[in-house]
Amino acid sequence: MYALRNMKIAVFSDRDGTINKDENYYLGSNPHWKEQVSFLEGVVEGIQLINKIPNSHFFILTNQSGVALQGGNFDNLTVERMHEVNLFILTELHKNGCNITGYFACPFVDENYALKAIKKGKIVNPKFVVNNHPDFKPNTGMIQKALSQMMADEGDYRIYAIGDRASDVEMSLNAGGIGILVESSKTKELGDVEKVLKMGKDAHVARDYLSAAQIIDKDIKTFSRL
Ligand SMILES: [Mg+2]
Repeated sequence: MYALRNMKIAVFSDRDGTINKDENYYLGSNPHWKEQVSFLEGVVEGIQLINKIPNSHFFILTNQSGVALQGGNFDNLTVERMHEVNLFILTELHKNGCNITGYFACPFVDENYALKAIKKGKIVNPKFVVNNHPDFKPNTGMIQKALSQMMADEGDYRIYAIGDRASDVEMSLNAGGIGILVESSKTKELGDVEKVLKMGKDAHVARDYLSAAQIIDKDIKTFSRL
């Protein structure tokens, strides 16, 4: 049972490795990028469950570091292409019965990312290197943009984030919300499960997207009874 009074819910989901399969595609760089878009298990069901929560809004927030890279296929991944990919994913989710309020994407990387990429032989466009950019997760710039789009401040919303990186969970905690890590092969590789388990009671780990959505649904039902 829901009894939410005036409380609104904002769920912020990561894209790559969380909603769609990520095999270091840098979606939009390959000329056949549309064929690389496939949704992970439980995603459609999970978003549909979130959509059923009264007064809920669902946003996709994505760091798109590939835009900052240059050379070869990366030259295809412009800011315009980044938007095209996001709109394609939104449309495909919509066709599957999912309601998405909107998306925000961050094409900026920090110096630390840039140096690591250069070490791996990649070329970085300095135009997109900005230290501590407000939109770069775990910073909360994209959450603030989404909330201001809805003309509300954080206090009016109960905030959740779902993602396959510790930085997704951290972003939500930084905004006073709850963060849920969905395990991917990369999550394990990077040791992000262990990092999230140390982040306290508002940080959770789920085995798949539907389980993450169920954590949100359960939390709201519990919260609305308080
Ligand atoms: Mg991700």
